[in-house]
Amino acid sequence: ARSWEIEKVPTLCPYCGTGCTIELEVVQKKGVREVIAASAPSHGGGIVNGRSLCAKGRFGMGFIHHPERLTKPLIRKNGKLIETTWEEAFSTIAKKFKDLLQAEGPDAFAFLASARTTNEENYLLNKISRAVIGTNNIDHCARLCHSASVAGLAAAFGSGAMTNPIKDIEKSDTFLVLGSNTTETHPVIAQQMIQAIKKGSQAIVIDPRKTEIAQLAQEHIQIKAGTDLAFLNSLAHVIIEEKLYNNRFVEERTENFKALAAAVAPCTPQWAAEITGLRPEQIIAVARAYSRAKKAAIYYTMGITQRFTGTYNVMAIANLALLTGHIGRPGTGVNPLRGQNNVQGACDMGALPDVYPGYQAVQDEKIRRKMASLWAVEEEKLSIRPGCTVGEMIDGAAEGTIKAMFIMGENPVLADANSSHVVKALQKLDILVVADIFLTETAELAHVVLPAASFAEKEGTFTNTERRVQSLHKAIEQRGEARPDWKILTELSCRLGYPMNYESPAEILEEINLVNSAYGGITPERLHKEGSLCWPCPSSDHPGTARLHEESFSRGKGKFHGVPYLGPAEEPCQNYPYILSTGRRLFHYHGGSMTRRGALHWAYPEEHLEMHPKDGAQEGLRTGDLVTLHSRRGAVTLPVYLTEGVAPGLVFSSFHFRESRINELTNGARDPIAKIPELKHCAVRIEKE
Ligand code: SF4
Repeated sequence: ARSWEIEKVPTLCPYCGTGCTIELEVVQKKGVREVIAASAPSHGGGIVNGRSLCAKGRFGMGFIHHPERLTKPLIRKNGKLIETTWEEAFSTIAKKFKDLLQAEGPDAFAFLASARTTNEENYLLNKISRAVIGTNNIDHCARLCHSASVAGLAAAFGSGAMTNPIKDIEKSDTFLVLGSNTTETHPVIAQQMIQAIKKGSQAIVIDPRKTEIAQLAQEHIQIKAGTDLAFLNSLAHVIIEEKLYNNRFVEERTENFKALAAAVAPCTPQWAAEITGLRPEQIIAVARAYSRAKKAAIYYTMGITQRFTGTYNVMAIANLALLTGHIGRPGTGVNPLRGQNNVQGACDMGALPDVYPGYQAVQDEKIRRKMASLWAVEEEKLSIRPGCTVGEMIDGAAEGTIKAMFIMGENPVLADANSSHVVKALQKLDILVVADIFLTETAELAHVVLPAASFAEKEGTFTNTERRVQSLHKAIEQRGEARPDWKILTELSCRLGYPMNYESPAEILEEINLVNSAYGGITPERLHKEGSLCWPCPSSDHPGTARLHEESFSRGKGKFHGVPYLGPAEEPCQNYPYILSTGRRLFHYHGGSMTRRGALHWAYPEEHLEMHPKDGAQEGLRTGDLVTLHSRRGAVTLPVYLTEGVAPGLVFSSFHFRESRINELTNGARDPIAKIPELKHCAVRIEKE
């Protein structure tokens, strides 16, 4: 483009899992291409978002050219990170990795993949971890958001993914939204919910906070934080007791009904009312509305999953869909909304400790043989032992069993629960390597930092929340010496003695087509021609699958799970009388490294603590007063904001801000199945400064 011409490069929004298509507006400045803005697709709209974008997609691109972008590798010398060459960075990593591999073995290594990098890059890191080093210690931040969905839905249906397309929202007669602040976390999906409400769909929001979507819905069920499982079990109780379930669907397409009926028999609305703080009639009304609707859907996010009982919560949601047959049809389904742009894809690519790409179990000897042959390594190189989850890696680093970590595009220091523990653990590593676009709080602790290209500077694919695989397009050159992660990983692999000679992400996708059967027909050529495809798409003539479980479930029959009610791991007490819940803000994303560098920062420059006015009066606080929040793990100081948006007894803040690092306080207690920490619930006390 000449200086006065704006070239529009179609690509994907780098933020939430909605997967909106955007156009980056590029100009030439002194011979250098520069992104000046982003806008909604001008030619007919995006397949997911039409002509809509939220504030992040529209105004959140300032980070691309931010002066704090990493442009050279950094290495720690005499305690300080200083600029170095790629040669020194790679030779340092390769030497240390080889020495440690020989001295400590493969399970002394851990790899954090990323929900913000492409499918191809996640695939390569999974390959390095397994085929080059020989460990299954690979995971990523899905562990902290939807690992409970993966475990719970896979057990019930055979697949842990969102069942229906986003566009199905408008086809529902009734939809439930559980633990999701949709207007702030998935604004374009929320817009479609609001359209559906306007057209007559009945929306019921179950949330301890009075979020915007709760206020727009016909019904807001303001449940006591951490008690969703009692509510969900009671819904199943009412549906069975009042014979509102779909008898034919239950008989023909499900199993284990008796076990569910026995488990929820004691979960009367009166019993649940005492636990949840609701009235029995509210619970009965929701059960009737959901089960009597012709087409009813459930949407949920981390209010459900970031729980000590996250997997049980998800199973209890799946029970409702199986009871009523609200699955496998338009306008129905169980729909976990993914938080980051490629969290679904990173899972699909095997960035999980127990499965290869395509959710193929590492413990299965036949699969191990197949993978060894595909990757041209000895069978024995591939470990049959499931690896560590994110939290277990951190514990391993603290205990000295994990010696080396490679972190690609993640920031556990801000995002993980109990962050002081995370910092202490990372500081104990023999070598920590971080590849990122900024010097994040985690990168600050590294021995070697590798400057990565941003989404605007590379090709590849992302998979959105509805399993839709779409292509990124390179708009500008990389900043300074930064490299796309896939190039960093191929070089690292070569240095470790396993040559990787991919010329492009398209070539890596062709290998993924062979390794992950659900992606078998999602070839670079088809993506180029057709724009996007939803998996499963097993062959070149398969149209892709917009809706799962239409004829049968991925596991055959849908399975009910009778799950007992268990409360949160940490309840308020005399010393810590409030419940702290954490989440996201409209203008920010994750650890804030992207959204706090640009216009969005000025729209929301600092964080506060939301507190109910009654609690404020009790503590002698007014909006703007500075408070220190204490939990059993740490303390954080920030201003208070009195609002009826939270229930009395509950306080809320986001985890985007390094100045008020809220995860210093959160509880690392993990769901025993999915190992997701209970980020949404811990006990705190508040002291006025
Ligand atoms: Fe980007 Fe999500 Fe906003 Fe769409 S809804 S523009 S994907 S942040």
